[in-house]
Amino acid sequence: MSNRTGFVAIVGRPNVGKSTLMNRILGQKLSITSRKPQTTRHQILGIKTEDDVQVIYVDTPGMHLKQEKAINRYMNKAATTAVKDVDLVVMVIDRTRWTDEDEMVLEALKNQRAPVVLVVNKVDFLKDKDSLLPYLQELSARYPFEQIVPISAKHGHNVERLENLINSFIPEGQYFYPEDQITDRSSRFLAAELVREKIMRQLGDELPYAMTVEIEEFTHSGTLAEISALILVERPSQKRIVIGEGGSRIKQIGQDARKDMEAMFDCKVMLNLWVKVKSNWSDDERALRSLGYDDR
Ligand code: GDP
Repeated sequence: MSNRTGFVAIVGRPNVGKSTLMNRILGQKLSITSRKPQTTRHQILGIKTEDDVQVIYVDTPGMHLKQEKAINRYMNKAATTAVKDVDLVVMVIDRTRWTDEDEMVLEALKNQRAPVVLVVNKVDFLKDKDSLLPYLQELSARYPFEQIVPISAKHGHNVERLENLINSFIPEGQYFYPEDQITDRSSRFLAAELVREKIMRQLGDELPYAMTVEIEEFTHSGTLAEISALILVERPSQKRIVIGEGGSRIKQIGQDARKDMEAMFDCKVMLNLWVKVKSNWSDDERALRSLGYDDR
């Protein structure tokens, strides 16, 4: 039997459960989840090779209604780029409601040719299972979806069925990546994402999402990795929040991030964190580029 390989874009507004689904499918913590929207700022490739099928998942940043800031322009562009040249688009929505942002994602999909499977996530929230059917019928009137699949990414409900469906859209072809490769993202990127996730978790709503993490140093020698990360915030007040009283918060962030890094890189990690104020960075294209958000 010959191999099959293909690209699948996961699209949907922030917070519908794309990262959770991704992690469930890949069985590994690759893209970063958080209760706060817009955590997934980059397009992460997750690769799953199983039973002669290699699926390369493109996890898109959320699409945004407001476009004033450079960071949002970048994110919108990345989201639109991701749906080009894929074999299948999986659009994820939240069972609880259909929003203007969902509508916007759908509008963007009308400009592309790949078949679209609609995933209705978080059905575990449903008390009355009978209410699902009329809702699915209503959804099917919005777009000629190939199929509509209700799932719970968090609990794994129906995810295997979804994967089988996804696999059925993957064409014959040689693998693009070695069989054991799960991501093409560098360790640097993953390290930065882990720090960012911990900050988000620690601070919740206290900090706006205009915060970024830059890895200044990443050296690996034997069983030890030395990592220095720079946390860039917009205002001195935010810097104080991140650091916390007597440095307590930054210490917790560092400890949590280090633990995850050690598990991810399978070695001891020495992690240094710095917090710096960089005003208006999110509205400065050049600054974005220097931080690696390059959309060229
Ligand atoms: P993304 O922004 O689309 O990547 O969304 P995330 O994967 O980060 O998920 C957003 C939030 O929804 C997180 O708190 C998840 O734990 C939660 N979530 C995701 N899938 C489910 C689900 O199937 N059921 C429930 N109850 N919560 C979910």
